[in-house]
Amino acid sequence: MSDRRRIGVMGGTFDPVHHGHLVAASEVQSRFNLDEVIFVPTGQPWQKDDKAVSAAEDRYLMTVIATASNPRFSVSRVDIDRTGPTYTVDTLIDLRDAHPDADLFFITGADALEQIVSWHQAEDLFHLAHFIGVTRPGYDLDDHHLPRGAVSLIEVPAMAISSTDCRSRTAAGQPVWYLVPDGVVQYIEKRDLYRAPDA
Ligand code: ATP
Ligand code: MG
Repeated sequence: MSDRRRIGVMGGTFDPVHHGHLVAASEVQSRFNLDEVIFVPTGQPWQKDDKAVSAAEDRYLMTVIATASNPRFSVSRVDIDRTGPTYTVDTLIDLRDAHPDADLFFITGADALEQIVSWHQAEDLFHLAHFIGVTRPGYDLDDHHLPRGAVSLIEVPAMAISSTDCRSRTAAGQPVWYLVPDGVVQYIEKRDLYRAPDA
């Protein structure tokens, strides 16, 4: 067995973080025997720059609140502290430099995995990390177009939750209790997030 640390990287907008993210990260941590999973909230997400995204600091703090009780979970500011749009290749380079003794495992849902082939510098990504695609209700997890051996596809408990749905529920005055951690429900209320209809 290699003595290198095994670090999962869970990138996302986390606007807000929800139990689908947490179950996926927990399942991959256990299945791949990861020492740690680092959640990395995006800066200004390039795939979403046509839509309004909450302030990075709010998304970061909600992610800290949601992960605080798990000793294997942590949150990184690398993407929110870097100026300009977030590219996954930069995320992985920064984390590799910060953790030179670790192998990186990038965790992504089936929907985001489909976009990998269209990501900037996609070939470089597979040298920086092993990719783990997880199932997500409503999306097919199939591996065509993906380099052999670079991606593992795994099934995680189905959580039909999305941040988009949490935002529109809040805007409509419907509850998000039990879709997101209790502290995140309270943070959304305290900061009055998502009250205007989703832009
Ligand atoms: P939005 O609706 O704003 O796009 P989202 O719920 O898709 O939000 P993201 O922050 O975009 O959340 O997702 C971050 C990562 O988590 C992506 O890789 C995404 O595929 C994965 N993910 C999100 N929700 C789930 C879920 N319910 N089950 C499994 N993976 C998920
Ligand atoms: Mg998404």
